[in-house]
Amino acid sequence: MIDVLIVGAGISGLTAAVQSQAAGLQVCVVEAEDVIGGRVRSALHNGNYVGDLGPSWVWPPWQPVVARWLTALDVETYAQYEEGAGLLDFPGQLSRHPLPGQHGIARLAGGPQSIVRALSERLTDNVIRCGMPVQKLVSQSDSIEVHLHSAGEASANAGDNTSLIQARQVVLAVPMRVALESLRFEPELPQDLQRHMADTPTWMAAQVKVVAHYAEAFWREQGLSGRVASRVGPLVEVHDHCGSDGSPAALFGFMGLTLEQRQQHRDALPSLVIEQLQRCFGEQAATPIGLWIEDWALVDTVCSASDRTGAAQHPEVRPDSLRQPLMDGRLHFAGAEVATESPGLIDGALQAGEVAAEAVIKNLV
Ligand SMILES: Cc1cc2nc3c(=O)[nH]c(=O)nc-3n(C[C@H](O)[C@H](O)[C@H](O)COP(=O)(O)OP(=O)(O)OC[C@H]3O[C@@H](n4cnc5c(N)ncnc54)[C@H](O)[C@@H]3O)c2cc1C
Repeated sequence: MIDVLIVGAGISGLTAAVQSQAAGLQVCVVEAEDVIGGRVRSALHNGNYVGDLGPSWVWPPWQPVVARWLTALDVETYAQYEEGAGLLDFPGQLSRHPLPGQHGIARLAGGPQSIVRALSERLTDNVIRCGMPVQKLVSQSDSIEVHLHSAGEASANAGDNTSLIQARQVVLAVPMRVALESLRFEPELPQDLQRHMADTPTWMAAQVKVVAHYAEAFWREQGLSGRVASRVGPLVEVHDHCGSDGSPAALFGFMGLTLEQRQQHRDALPSLVIEQLQRCFGEQAATPIGLWIEDWALVDTVCSASDRTGAAQHPEVRPDSLRQPLMDGRLHFAGAEVATESPGLIDGALQAGEVAAEAVIKNLV
């Protein structure tokens, strides 16, 4: 039997793992995907970081938890580039316009992958096991029995391709809606809790993030900030996405098309994006070194069926019942969406991971 099993190797799960291990507990992190990071993904060119396909920004002056962890993990920030004019891209009309900046908005050197890497490097070898989706949590008298699908593993066998891990405490660091839709709980979770989980949208889960990598930041030479607000699309907003010294040079944008439209025009999306960037920034935008289109709605481990169909909602602090331990005090929810600070954001993921670890440590140490 292990002390703590953490489900999900996103920022919240890794934070809970680091804190629990630092308190002397035996920890195992199981991750459904073949890679860690969850919503944190990077665009790479020849193995080098170009930009962020998931989150990009933190706001350290307003996010003390992020600020504290960035210092502890030695991850540097730099200001989001906002010098120069923005562009308003309206039907038949493209105009330069000052667009309001955001005080304190910052990029992370190497992207948020730097946080994920630094957290995972603090864990001892073999703590994280990828490609192992948890399917069921069963409450026992002294532990929780965790059922996992494990193509290659053959530990304590509970049927074809299913392993069991027995844990004194479990931290469920996956989005609430994903947990509700894809996991089974024995005994069943209380009905009102299930309703609160169903009502907790996964922040940005149905978004599409686009990164265009260029040889140089030619828009800056034109006195443009790289910022576009568009009513034409397919990108509804665009931002400068360069490294701290302007290299690698990149722009990023969010797509405004519905999932249905995206699926209908999937093959045409790259050329529609390039057409728009060319219209806004000129000929040089026509030939990116690389273009990445990350459709998060297609990632089942992040985007639930209800996130896919429902309207995007801004994250808000969810009811206390999501932060109460379950299964006789042995099961704790983490995940950015259950945080009381910055729910849905990186700041929230760090906080939720810390809070879950504190509860586990209090019970076991
Ligand atoms: C496009 C986009 C842009 C964003 N922009 C920003 C931003 O600028 N600033 C900001 O602060 N935040 C932003 N966010 C939100 C930020 O990414 C999240 O707050 C943070 O990454 C959440 O971390 P997490 O650990 O809580 O969850 P996740 O990253 O979702 O991690 C959950 C993990 O659980 C795994 N999992 C799921 N089901 C199972 C299972 N059954 N068994 C095992 N593992 C499972 C998943 O594979 C995943 O690795 C953005 C998100 C997206 C998608």
